[in-house]
Amino acid sequence: MLELGPDEKAKYPFLTDAGQYLKDKGFPLVQFGTDPDLKSSVEKAFHRLKVSTEGGIYKSDLIDGQASKSYVLEREVFSFLLAIVMIKLTGMNTLVKRFALAEARRAEQHLEKDLGNATDKSKIDLAIRIISDLFGIEVTKQNDFFVMPVSDYIKHSVTFHEREWKLINRHVEDGKVFLTPDKTVRLIRKELGSYISSKIINAPIPPMIPGFENYVGELVSICKKLTPSYTITTGEHPPCIKHAIEVLEKGENLPHSGRFMLAAFLLSKGQSVEQIAPLFKNAPDYNERVTLYQLNHLAGLSGSGTQYSCPSCEKLKTQNLCFIIPECDNIINPLQFGRKRK
Ligand code: SF4
Repeated sequence: MLELGPDEKAKYPFLTDAGQYLKDKGFPLVQFGTDPDLKSSVEKAFHRLKVSTEGGIYKSDLIDGQASKSYVLEREVFSFLLAIVMIKLTGMNTLVKRFALAEARRAEQHLEKDLGNATDKSKIDLAIRIISDLFGIEVTKQNDFFVMPVSDYIKHSVTFHEREWKLINRHVEDGKVFLTPDKTVRLIRKELGSYISSKIINAPIPPMIPGFENYVGELVSICKKLTPSYTITTGEHPPCIKHAIEVLEKGENLPHSGRFMLAAFLLSKGQSVEQIAPLFKNAPDYNERVTLYQLNHLAGLSGSGTQYSCPSCEKLKTQNLCFIIPECDNIINPLQFGRKRK
C-alpha cells in the first residue's frame, strides 16, 4: 500500500483502506445517519454521486489539490467512502460505472497536475508511483516529458482509435514513447475506472443505515430514469450499428468515431435528434447539453447547415467499428445494409 500524505488521501481517496480510515477516525458507519456534525459529509457523498450520474465531475473543496483544513480532508475522504456505501445500498450497476468513471476523470485531473508540477518533485514522484504500482507502467521523467516502453504504450492505447494515438504519430526514441502529462494520464483512464469499479464491487453490502433511506431512494429513481426508453423504428440494423447500440446500453464507452457513425446513420435513416439523443444517456460521460449540440450539428441544424453522412464500411474497418457478417455482402456503406442487390 502506498504511503499517502493528507493531500494525496483527499485527491486519491480510492487508495485509502476505507475500513481502516473510518476505524482510525473512530466513526462507526451508523453514526453518519444520525450525527448532525457528520451530515455535511453524507450530503457531499450524495452530491458526488448525483453529479456523476449527470456525466459531470464532482468539484471538491480542495484548493490547488490541497486540503487547507483537516475537516476538508475528512469530508473529502468520508464523502467518497459514503458514496460507495450508498451505491451498495442502491444495488444499481449503472451507478457503479458512472461513479467510477467520474472519479477516474477527477483523479486524472489531479495526476495530470501533479505530473506537470515543475516545482515539487515529490508530487511528480508520487504520481509516477501510483501509475507504476496500480497499472504496472514504468514511467520516467525526461525533461518536460514522461517516457514509457513502447510495449506498455501499445498495450494501454490499443482501444484508442484517434489518429493522434497511433504510434507513428508519437515521438519514439530507443524503444520509448515520449508523452506530455495529460496524454500520460489519459492512457490510464480506463484502468483507473476499472480499479475504482473493482473497489466498489468488492466492498461488502452494509445493512440499510437509518437516515440514508431518502438518499438511496432518490438515487434509485435517478438511475431508473437513465435507462433508455427509445424505440428503434428503422428495422434491422447492420452489425456495426447494433454493436454501437449494445455498447451504449451497457453503459460502456463508445469512442467518438463510434458515436459519430451511430448518430449519422440514424439521422440518415430519418430519425430526429430528439429520438436519437436518449441512446447516449447511458454513456459514462453523458452530458445532455453537449450531446444535443453535437447531434444538431451532425443533423445540419446548426453550424454550417450540412448534414453529415455515415462513414463508409472501409473507413469503419480502419476505426475497428466494423463487425462484418456475410449479410453485409460487399456493401460500401452501412446505409445499404439489407437492401436487395439488382
Ligand atoms: S461491412 Fe459495413 S455494414 Fe457491415 S458491419 Fe462492417 S461497416 Fe457495418
